[in-house]
Amino acid sequence: MYVSDKVKNMPAYIFSELDRKKQVLKEKGIDVIDLGIGAPDLPTPSYINDALVREAKNPDNHRYSNYNGCIEFRLAVANFYKEKYDVDLDPETEILALIGSKEGIVHLIQAVINEGDKVLIPNPGYPVYRMGVHLAAGESVDLLLDKENGYKPQFHLLTESQLQHAKLLLLNYPSNPTAATIELDTFVQTISFAKQHHLIAAHDSAYNLVTFDNYQSPSILQVPNAKEYAVEIGSLSKSFNMTGWRIGYIVGNKTVIQSLATLKSNLDSSQFLPIQKAAAVALRSDLQSIVENNAIIKARMEKLYAALVSMGMHCEKPRGTIFLWAKVPAGFTSLSFVNKLMDEAGVIVTPGTAFGTVGEGYIRFSLSVTEGRIDEVIKRLSQLEFSREILS
Ligand SMILES: *Cc1c(COP(=O)(O)O)cnc(C)c1O
Repeated sequence: MYVSDKVKNMPAYIFSELDRKKQVLKEKGIDVIDLGIGAPDLPTPSYINDALVREAKNPDNHRYSNYNGCIEFRLAVANFYKEKYDVDLDPETEILALIGSKEGIVHLIQAVINEGDKVLIPNPGYPVYRMGVHLAAGESVDLLLDKENGYKPQFHLLTESQLQHAKLLLLNYPSNPTAATIELDTFVQTISFAKQHHLIAAHDSAYNLVTFDNYQSPSILQVPNAKEYAVEIGSLSKSFNMTGWRIGYIVGNKTVIQSLATLKSNLDSSQFLPIQKAAAVALRSDLQSIVENNAIIKARMEKLYAALVSMGMHCEKPRGTIFLWAKVPAGFTSLSFVNKLMDEAGVIVTPGTAFGTVGEGYIRFSLSVTEGRIDEVIKRLSQLEFSREILS
């Protein structure tokens, strides 16, 4: 049968390889604890489910949505940006509903670059960026993040030739996989770099609300005049535990939004209206469910963080996301340590190299299991040789 070169030559998706190994362990009857999954385990808050059920019963909602997403959803996004970031958005021209942000990111790349154009992608970063550039027949250029300095983008390392024909720059904070967070000054620098090099800056804000204590994650659109150069992609998946619902949005620069809207109007007909309307209810809520959720994630993080540090592993304490990003002990690579944890402890984590070369020497723990299971992880890890050596 025919398979396109594009599909045949997709960069290998490391998670499917890990899934296969996990399956093998399970078949052996091992109680596998999977900290490799990058998705929340907690349920969608019930007030959102109730809104879905209510809206699903209204036959008006069984028709096609407006291509850009229904006005209720776009107004709710506008209201959210005003309340949360004091950013004004025109729901007609500066907001577009997405069928999850992953869809939006991949199509955004196709909407703004031509074949052979370059896209600057964070290394380490979410693997979908590289895939998306591949699917658009573009060229990925690694924007190296500074592991010694909070994984901030190192724009100064990009060469003239790397920047030639570059059209788009992608960033993501709070970050998957590193859990790094930033302040607005990083976005100020990003916008000025985008302006200087005629780039679109696209910020993936998937974890914008998954933050701890008093930390507030900024929006790139808070930078003055950001809309001239930037878009921000948002998602309800992580903040409201709605991964399966497939609902997100992109906001910011009109021209960029219009090109994505044109592309998408030929591909899909937006998301099911009851999902959009329930998502609007979520965005207009007092966000109390998020506060409660974040407290649960933070308790898991604190527990695992304290244990890893006491085993002598190095990691920064995160201010957000559902991840802990830790350095592997001396003598290991990302992959050799992942394999050790899998084979000797039945614990699955993700090798940092799944996210780019800068991830070598690191692993990502996902905090998507209960505290009880985290206790079990800690117990198993503390019995491994590397931690016994350090503890003795
Ligand atoms: C999970 C994730 C997404 C995808 O979210 P969806 O809206 O569910 O598609 C996008 N970006 C990052 C960094 C993520 O971790």
